[in-house]
Amino acid sequence: MTGLMEGKRGLIMGLANDKSLAWGIARKLHEQGAELAFSYQGEALEKRVRPLAASLGSDFLIECDVSDMTALDTAFETLAARWPTIDFLVHAIGFSDKTELRGKFMDTSLDNFLMTMNISVYSMVAVTRRAAAMMPQVEDENGVKTGGGSIVTLTYYGAEKVVPHYNVMGVAKAALEASVRYLANDCGPQGIRVNALSAGPIKTLAASGIGDFRYILKWNELNAPLRRNVTIDDVGGAGLYLLSDLSSGVTGEVHHVDSGYHTVGMKQEDAPDIALG
Ligand code: NAD
Repeated sequence: MTGLMEGKRGLIMGLANDKSLAWGIARKLHEQGAELAFSYQGEALEKRVRPLAASLGSDFLIECDVSDMTALDTAFETLAARWPTIDFLVHAIGFSDKTELRGKFMDTSLDNFLMTMNISVYSMVAVTRRAAAMMPQVEDENGVKTGGGSIVTLTYYGAEKVVPHYNVMGVAKAALEASVRYLANDCGPQGIRVNALSAGPIKTLAASGIGDFRYILKWNELNAPLRRNVTIDDVGGAGLYLLSDLSSGVTGEVHHVDSGYHTVGMKQEDAPDIALG
């Protein structure tokens, strides 16, 4: 299977290093012939992102802090100056103060609540509006429509059920998943699909901020139907599906890539008791 993304180009937002979920998706897209641009948050990350992008044949890097609407406008202007239209976008961005990713949700501060919602949820709305303007749909004389596009964001099970320590991020992911449905409805008439990929826990820079993350990883490994944790390749494969024409009839969906963990109601009989630490 090659060439699924031949002739398609798009922007990957949220690549930090080779552990990032965005990296798993970018690699699969590249394998299938996609042309990729990358946005990164600040100079420190540029040093990591540049060689990774180069290894996928891309020199198209754009700086963008998504909490700054002017920076977002500038980033999309830079993108449009080289590529007037795009076919897909990956939003793999989330952030919260890690001191509030432990303890009680009830203790979330207003400042961190607003910042978490801004960076992890509103950015998806702001990015979709700008990306959609670059995904025109055209109709030929026979009524055949081409163009449009596909947008994917990353979410987690903590949106649906309480996961210890996930706290305000769980509330933000619930809002993100609801936003996906509203955005899918807004963008649908233009042939643009918007979906979320709900990934199981994976050790990344962002995940290391979550309290007792190693315990969460172990619990999922022992209790998911597949009895293993997912990898960024698993996430990449599902990302490729959602961003390619393979999923042409799918929008507004939250697709789980979590070894089936979300289907399980209690501890597996064969799962040992495990301790924290
Ligand atoms: P990561 O640390 O590799 O990526 C997080 C990215 O968010 C980084 O590139 C960071 O620069 C970017 N970011 C944060 N604040 C930003 C800002 N203001 N402007 C621009 N970029 C900003 O970690 P990851 O785990 O790959 O996270 C990617 C997405 O996947 C997040 O939305 C995360 O919540 C989600 N997710 C992760 C897991 C997991 O277990 N790792 C599971 C499900 C969902």
